[in-house]
Amino acid sequence: MNLPHTLGQLRHSIFSQDRLKARRVKDEMRENLICKLRRNEVIFPGIMGYEDSVVPQLINALLSRHNFILLGLRGQAKSRILRALTTLLDPAIPYLAGCEIHDNPYAPICRRCRELVAERGDETPIAYRSPEERYVEKLATPDVTIADLIGDIDPIKAARGGHELASEMTVHYGLLPRANRGIFAVNELPDLAGKIQVGLFNIMQEGDVQIKGYPVRLPLDVALVFTANPEDYTARGKIITPLKDRIGSEIRTHYPATLEEGISITQQEAWATRNGHRLQIPGYVREVIEQIAFCAREDKRIDKRSGVSQRLPISCLENVISNAERRAIRHDEGLVVPRVGDVYAAMPAITGKLELEYEGEVKGADNVVREIIRSSVAKTFDRYFEGVDLHQVVQWFDLGGEIQIRDSAAAGEAWERLQGIQGLSEKLGTVGIKEKDRPETLVSAAEFVLEGLHAHKRIGRNEERVFTAGEKGPKPVEGKFNREEPPMLKRRPFN
Ligand SMILES: [Zn+2]
Repeated sequence: MNLPHTLGQLRHSIFSQDRLKARRVKDEMRENLICKLRRNEVIFPGIMGYEDSVVPQLINALLSRHNFILLGLRGQAKSRILRALTTLLDPAIPYLAGCEIHDNPYAPICRRCRELVAERGDETPIAYRSPEERYVEKLATPDVTIADLIGDIDPIKAARGGHELASEMTVHYGLLPRANRGIFAVNELPDLAGKIQVGLFNIMQEGDVQIKGYPVRLPLDVALVFTANPEDYTARGKIITPLKDRIGSEIRTHYPATLEEGISITQQEAWATRNGHRLQIPGYVREVIEQIAFCAREDKRIDKRSGVSQRLPISCLENVISNAERRAIRHDEGLVVPRVGDVYAAMPAITGKLELEYEGEVKGADNVVREIIRSSVAKTFDRYFEGVDLHQVVQWFDLGGEIQIRDSAAAGEAWERLQGIQGLSEKLGTVGIKEKDRPETLVSAAEFVLEGLHAHKRIGRNEERVFTAGEKGPKPVEGKFNREEPPMLKRRPFN
C-alpha cells in the first residue's frame, strides 16, 4: 500500500480530514472492535478461559470508550490482555513527521507542529506508526516521578529557543505524552505515589498538568489501562478518589476454573516443541503439574493475596520436559517421555513462585512443595485408578520387594526391573498403555503407579527414590485421646 507522505496528499487519501480530525484512539478501538464483532471474529485470540467472564466485560468497556482497570492476582494474563488491545488499532496511522508526541496531522497539540503546518502547509511531511509502536507500558513503582511519566522542564531547551519556561516548547516529554494517540498501560497502579496519581488524573481530566510548579497544557489523546492486585486497589488510601472515579470499568480476572482449562493454557504457553527429540507427554503428567497449581491455590500455607501464578505450571512443565530430555540424551533414547519423578526434579521451577505464609516458612519451601506435589499425584492417581485393585503390587513390596527408579535411569534397564513386580504391567492399560509400547512410555506409566501408591502411603519411598513396603504404622484409632478434643470435654450425644 502506497501511503501519502505529505499533508496535501493525506487530505485526498483514506486518511481524510473528515475521518481523522476528531477520531480519538478510543473511537478507533471501538470502530475496529465493532467490525470484528460483526464478522464474528475471536476478539482476543490466545486468551483462554475468559470467554464468558472477562472478555464480555472488556468488550463493554471498550464500546463505552472507558479507561479501565484489570483487577487480579499475578499470573492471570492481565498484561497479556492489555497487549492484545493493539489488535484493535489501525494497521497504520499518520502523524506529523518528527513530532515527539505523534501529533494528529489535522489537529496538532504541540507548538512545534502548529508552527510547522503554518509554515509548510500541504508540504508538511507525514510519517506512520504501527499498532505495536503505539502501545506503551509502565510498571508502577514508588520511585516513578512526574518527570518519568509526564515530563520535565528543560531549561537548556528554553534558553536555546528563547522560550518561556512554561511553554510546551521547553518540555522534555515523559512516557505518557509519548504515548499520545496510543494505549498507555500502567501495571500495579496502587504502587504509584499519590502525587503522580494526581498528575495522571489532571491529564485525563483537564488535559493540563503542573511540572515543577509551571502549568503546562497537554490535551493528550490516550487510552489509559491499568492493572492492580484487588486487595491493594480496594485498600483505603492507595488510590486517590478522583482517579478511581475516572476509571470507567473495573474488570476482575481469575485463575482457570477447571483443570482442563488450566492444562490448555499451560499447553499453549509452555515451550514444548523443541528441536531434535520426539516428545510424548503423558496425560497424567500434565494433570499432576496442573494439579500442583490448583492445590497450591487452596493451601493454607501459601499466601492467598499474591496468588499462585499460571506461570507456575508453565515453568514446571518446561523443566519437567528438560529433565526427561536430559535423560533421553544421556542414554541415547529415541523418545522423550516425562515421568512423575521429573516433576519432583522440577522443584526449582516451583518454589520461587510461591509466597509462603508464616506456617509455610517454618516448614521450609522445599517441604511444602514436596507435600503439594505428593497430594497432586494422589489426586491424579485417583482419577485414573479409582476402583482398580492394586493389592498384588502392594503385596510384592510387603513381601520385601524393593526397587530404585532414579529420574536419571535409562528406560530399557528400568523397565526390565519393573517387570519383576507381579501384577504391575497388566494394570498399565488403565492409563492407555499397550503391551507393544516403547520402554520410555512403559516406565513412565509404571512409575506413576508406584508414585501414586506412595502418595497414598500404601508403599514407601526414600530420597534415593527406592520404593519399599515402607512404614505403614498402625491406623489411627477412633476415639483415642487427641489434643483438639480431650475426652472429658466431649459432649454427650443427646439421643
Ligand atoms: Zn507535534
